[in-house]
Amino acid sequence: MPTFDEARQIVLANIRPLGVERVSILEAAGRVLAEDIVAPWCMPQCDNSAMDGFAVRSDDCSSLPASLRITGYIPAGGEICGEVEPGCAIRIMTGAPVPPGCDGVVPVEETREEGDQVFILEPVKSGQHIRFTAEDVQTGETIIPAGTLLRTAEISMLASFGRALVPVYRRARVAILSTGDELVEMGEPVTPGRIINSNSLSLAAAVREIGAEPVILGIARDNWESHRSKMVEGLKADALITSAGVSAGDRDLVRIVLDELGLEQLFWKVEMKPGGPTAFGIHDGKPVFSLPGNPVSSMITFEAFARPALLKMMGHSRLFRPVVSATLMNDMKKKPGKLNLIRVSLESYQDGFRAYSSGVQQTALLRTMLRADALAVFPSELQLLEKGSLVQCIILREELLMGCEASKCSG
Ligand code: AMP
Ligand code: MG
Repeated sequence: MPTFDEARQIVLANIRPLGVERVSILEAAGRVLAEDIVAPWCMPQCDNSAMDGFAVRSDDCSSLPASLRITGYIPAGGEICGEVEPGCAIRIMTGAPVPPGCDGVVPVEETREEGDQVFILEPVKSGQHIRFTAEDVQTGETIIPAGTLLRTAEISMLASFGRALVPVYRRARVAILSTGDELVEMGEPVTPGRIINSNSLSLAAAVREIGAEPVILGIARDNWESHRSKMVEGLKADALITSAGVSAGDRDLVRIVLDELGLEQLFWKVEMKPGGPTAFGIHDGKPVFSLPGNPVSSMITFEAFARPALLKMMGHSRLFRPVVSATLMNDMKKKPGKLNLIRVSLESYQDGFRAYSSGVQQTALLRTMLRADALAVFPSELQLLEKGSLVQCIILREELLMGCEASKCSG
């Protein structure tokens, strides 16, 4: 049975990025760039003014105030109308090309005008307030390398070069299949012994959160034919995630049917808790994750295995959630032999994070997941983690790292 880390390595070693598609730049934010973007021209394309003011020769301004004759006007988008003679200035707006002869721009606030004369009131350095040709980007330079996650800054650069279509990795289409005779869909009567199929929705939300596309297959009933037909459908997507039916019960058919469909099974148990009965395999190059049915286990094993794999398929290089050290605020005990992922809430203090168990760690208790800001890693060999010790916490609520949420911050 692989350890948690080994299981992750097995998964990731078997995942390849999906193909490339060209999407409208409007749809490109949040996607991963699939090809290097090379600048087709330089930026700026000409020397231009960084201020509204006057373009001058700095030599004319050595004694202040310097009096210059205004001989022209270049607005943004305007054109140069010849060289500027000594003793003259050109009224110029931000972004307008700087005419030949001039080597500085004086902001309008540092001048005074009288008729066709302008008085320069402050010292002028050669080159001041000019954006020089190619100082931002040079022609032929790789401005955004393949593999970059496109944020607004990258979109701005792409737009500046007129890239209406952007080559990005494809979004993964992820089929989600719940299994079990006890399940009903939302809207159907929930009689004693029946539960709503919530895993399909939580997994779909988790898939959406990383920019992949869920394909909900519904419920496979606990019989061979129902499993088979749904799985055949699911194997048409880029990845298949099943929940429940993967342990050793007499109705746990997931592994048996996947095996008959030709799945190459790479593991079917992991030395971890929750999530021990998690299976993973490859079918026709596509990953198949068989997650346990308990809602908490299915969410945690999605986090552990499916999330990094799907991110890799979509070209991401940061596959894992951030991990922080936190001071544990409760004693924690367990049996040795399995790595435990403990749901904890985190509070941010000046001296770092403090981690509080979010309650009894049974996997059927959904509410503990609501309070889970992070999963604290309780290493397999240990039996006791004492209050005050440092634990590694896999952050689930990443906004906690972006600053102190008012409600979470104290001390
Ligand atoms: P199983 O592995 O099939 O024995 O399922 C384990 C437990 O997970 C079941 O007792 C159900 O309570 C729960 N469960 C299974 N599938 C779902 C689902 N789709 N939504 C919510 N809970 C589920
Ligand atoms: Mg079942």
